[in-house]
Amino acid sequence: MITLKSPQEIDVMRQAGRIVAQTLQVLKEVIKPGITTIQLDALAKRTIESFHASPAFLGYRGFPASICVSLNEEVVHGIPGLRRLRNGDIISIDVGVYYRGYYGDAAATYPVGEISPLARELLEVTEQSLYRGLDMAYPGKRLYDISNAIQEYVESRGYSVVRNYVGHGIGSEMHEEPQVPNFGIPGKGPRLETGMVLAIEPMVNAGGWQVETLADKWTVVTSDRSLSAHFEHTVAILEDGPIILTLLQEG
Ligand code: MG
Repeated sequence: MITLKSPQEIDVMRQAGRIVAQTLQVLKEVIKPGITTIQLDALAKRTIESFHASPAFLGYRGFPASICVSLNEEVVHGIPGLRRLRNGDIISIDVGVYYRGYYGDAAATYPVGEISPLARELLEVTEQSLYRGLDMAYPGKRLYDISNAIQEYVESRGYSVVRNYVGHGIGSEMHEEPQVPNFGIPGKGPRLETGMVLAIEPMVNAGGWQVETLADKWTVVTSDRSLSAHFEHTVAILEDGPIILTLLQEG
């Protein structure tokens, strides 16, 4: 069942979302060659807790850290550790918080120092695809209008969308119905309604769409080890269209 959120609930989710955005902003500012991903994790936890929120991923199905950090060919769910960022890496950071009974969830991929033209274009295309999807998030549209807009744009630029992992509804649970794939047939899927809140999160590979999970049972990588990027926002569908809840300012 897809739960519709009241304006009051969306207001709390906006506060949760702003904490997510502020945490990503803090992390973005310290990303540079030499820093370890576990240092980023510690900083994220401190930042989230300073807002009287809690890191939603910590302990989720046994996940051992507060954020997911996925470098280069890693797609999602990378575990922070002693690895140091190097010039030319791209790093995807996924932040989830729990605040006053509701969740916020967002991700972004950042360059470390100077990155290759291919990596830069992959980041641009992935972020842009999220906004192509968002353009479809109006009451009366269908869910897969969002999915298809993302897929069409990504594939038109020569990249591929991951099939095995998808976006999701979000609210008092981190993962609610519906699933929000980054591929699909336009005009299909549940009808979008005012009060739906979705985490839209294209995962885009420079090579093929196939992925696999490493022996740590968490880290998802591209099967062909091509680069992968990930952008995500928590988005509320209102009468006049979508608003992004995971922004620093009112959006
Ligand atoms: Mg998510």
